[in-house]
Amino acid sequence: MEKKSALYWFRNDLRLADNAALTQACQQSDQLVLVYCLAPEENTSWGFVRVGQHRKAFLVDTLDDLAQRCEQLGHRLLILEGEPTLVLPPILKRLNINTIYCEAIAAPYEVAQVASLCEQGYCIEAIWQSSLLNPNTLPFCVENLPKIFTTFRQQIEQMGTAPPAPIPSIELFPDLPKVLHAIQSIKLKDWAGFVPIEKRSAFPYYKPQWQGGETAALAHLQRYLESGLVDQYKQTRNGLIGSDYSTKFSPWLASGALSARQIYQQLKAHEAVKGANESTYWVWFELLWRDYFRLLHLRFGAQLYRAKGLNDAATISHQPDLFLQWCRGETGQAFIDAGMRELVATGYLSNRMRQNVASYLIHDLQCDWRSGAAWFESQLIDYDVYSNQGNWLYLAGCGTDPRPNRRFNIEKQIKTYDPKHEYLQLWRH
Ligand SMILES: Cc1cc2nc3c(=O)[nH]c(=O)nc-3n(C[C@H](O)[C@H](O)[C@H](O)COP(=O)(O)OP(=O)(O)OC[C@H]3O[C@@H](n4cnc5c(N)ncnc54)[C@H](O)[C@@H]3O)c2cc1C
Repeated sequence: MEKKSALYWFRNDLRLADNAALTQACQQSDQLVLVYCLAPEENTSWGFVRVGQHRKAFLVDTLDDLAQRCEQLGHRLLILEGEPTLVLPPILKRLNINTIYCEAIAAPYEVAQVASLCEQGYCIEAIWQSSLLNPNTLPFCVENLPKIFTTFRQQIEQMGTAPPAPIPSIELFPDLPKVLHAIQSIKLKDWAGFVPIEKRSAFPYYKPQWQGGETAALAHLQRYLESGLVDQYKQTRNGLIGSDYSTKFSPWLASGALSARQIYQQLKAHEAVKGANESTYWVWFELLWRDYFRLLHLRFGAQLYRAKGLNDAATISHQPDLFLQWCRGETGQAFIDAGMRELVATGYLSNRMRQNVASYLIHDLQCDWRSGAAWFESQLIDYDVYSNQGNWLYLAGCGTDPRPNRRFNIEKQIKTYDPKHEYLQLWRH
């Protein structure tokens, strides 16, 4: 195969290890440009910024780390700002490059980006790589993905479908085109702005060991397994306070600093030495949920983004004033307000509180579930298009397994998960 010059467009895969798309780009090119496009400043259709301050700050650390790793290999990461379909073509023309490699993302906006670049005449090699399992080696084809998660999981487990091993890290890049030196990256710190430190955070990303990027992600994975926290995960995972109650893998997974296959490989190594138990099993179980929402996108695509989701009809209402109160943590329901304050102050929220606040918005305040999904997209440092859309759909009762009423009883939730009102006290203001 004749090698050519190409551009690698980093998306949600900001790592050098276990990156199949980047590995293929390196193998098939004689010159390679590495680019990341920061999202342009824009509002969602609900009237607030698409990328909030926490997500920006975490991303800046992630990109800093990636740029350093590229530099250590004698390469350079070019960071641009703007919509990729607009900012990549001028660079490609200037460098006389026609081929773009990137990871494939099966969500409508991201699919449209690739389609637009194709329409502009570029050759796109989009490679699927963000799931734990390989969609081509499942016991069923994606068109027949079971509509119930439990059925999906049981079939995977009965057939013993195992994830592929992670691919080794890039050790050598193809050459860098000479003219690239004339093109400047934008200043990351200016883009992110200042974010005050929040000491109550369950994911204190202002501390070095919690910051974005592959280096911190790999260290965290090792620390989480070696400390033995993983061996109690099933008992602690519904906690609300502190850094230790759940794995906290999600911000690194969402940015792609860490892959699910890397986690699985280390989890199996841990089980081989320390033994498996229901907690180590439960990490696999949760990673299967993550995969399930990815596969749902491969099967249903844009249908998941309709107000009615996969249902036949939608009965959707919205109350803009109540939605605003929910966003600000001013609903008057103290537990919900505590959760919404934590989200805005830290960019992170436990799974338990995500379920509670989402249920409250949909079933108590009778607001459009898509407004809540958009607010989470803006605020969460671990925003992941598949998991976010999938969980909101599920709670709204318009995904697969559509049960009409997934309303959480808030008083019961407080009794079970915050019996001493510690969480309520912590986020009272
Ligand atoms: C309304 C709502 C919106 C959500 N939005 C997102 C999102 O944007 N990004 C995101 O990563 N997760 C999302 N989740 C799922 C889940 O809440 C987070 O993955 C989890 O809280 C992250 O913390 P952790 O890594 O400590 O999770 P752990 O409990 O330690 O779980 C380990 C890993 O399993 C996966 N996982 C766990 N629970 C789920 C789940 N319900 N769905 C999919 N994957 C799961 C995640 O990759 C997680 O990192 C959402 C959940 C709800 C209810």
